[in-house]
Amino acid sequence: MFIQMLPIFYHDEYDAQTVPDGHRFPMRKYRETGRVLKEIGLVSARRPFRRPKPADFDMIALAHDPDYVRAVFDQTVDYRTARTIGFEMTHAVAMRSRLSCMGTYLSGKAALAEGIACNAAGGSHHARYTHGAGFCVFNDVGVAIRALQATRQISRALVVDCDVHQGDGTADIFQHDDSVFTFSLHCETNWPVRKVPSSLDIGLDAGLNDGAYLAELDRGLAASLGSFQPDIVFYNAGVDPHADDRLGKLSLTDQGIRKRDALVIRRIRERGLPLVCVMGGGYSQDVQHLARLHAMVFEEASRAFTSTSKAHRVGADGSS
Ligand SMILES: [Zn+2]
Repeated sequence: MFIQMLPIFYHDEYDAQTVPDGHRFPMRKYRETGRVLKEIGLVSARRPFRRPKPADFDMIALAHDPDYVRAVFDQTVDYRTARTIGFEMTHAVAMRSRLSCMGTYLSGKAALAEGIACNAAGGSHHARYTHGAGFCVFNDVGVAIRALQATRQISRALVVDCDVHQGDGTADIFQHDDSVFTFSLHCETNWPVRKVPSSLDIGLDAGLNDGAYLAELDRGLAASLGSFQPDIVFYNAGVDPHADDRLGKLSLTDQGIRKRDALVIRRIRERGLPLVCVMGGGYSQDVQHLARLHAMVFEEASRAFTSTSKAHRVGADGSS
């Protein structure tokens, strides 16, 4: 029997090898997450990862200043911008950012066709129209939405951003655009200090735990989905709201992260909306634990994907 599996986009070069072990940004988490996804059986020899190619200049320039895009492609980004981003701007970093944009775009296409899809990278939500920041070079979700709109695959998109840091770059790109609704649930006292207003911002107090967090999330989802009808939803499943995160100031447990992912997926899918999940932030130096946390959204998405495709089969031929 042909078993459908959740579409997952992955590339070994999501891990830019020029960013060393021990860097504040734990780059090795991408390969480790890929390894965990194999180990837990979300991909197999018969149903492997889907592999993106690097996004080209024209696609990325749909969401970013062409001069900045050119500078990243040519590795001529000025020192100040590179410092704001936090990486040495190498060929590997440029390539990783281009692959990540294409992975999120192709996840969008797959979600439109199959219901849910995940990119094992992405969520670079601090990258603004004119420049990158905070370990984010290109805003993959911004690029994916612009590219899906440009090719008339969608008109309207909702971004649900649960990374602990406010989604200032995404808010900047879609600031004056009614076709995209941005919802950011973050810790108010976390970086960035100066936030760019989203369509809906919920800034949480430091130290908030699972129960209160999930209640605020559900309130925000109801408000977003109550006031806006998207054609697709992009979910930034950053795991930096976890209590052990080195940068985040919230206090979620492992179970809290899983419940959060399950809640977002349930609320979106019960409305029948296509959903893309991207990884977002996570800054523990314990890369094994970090990868397990990141894997949760893939597991929950896979559960929802399997039950949806079963329901489709029942609907299609009357048997399961
Ligand atoms: Zn973050």
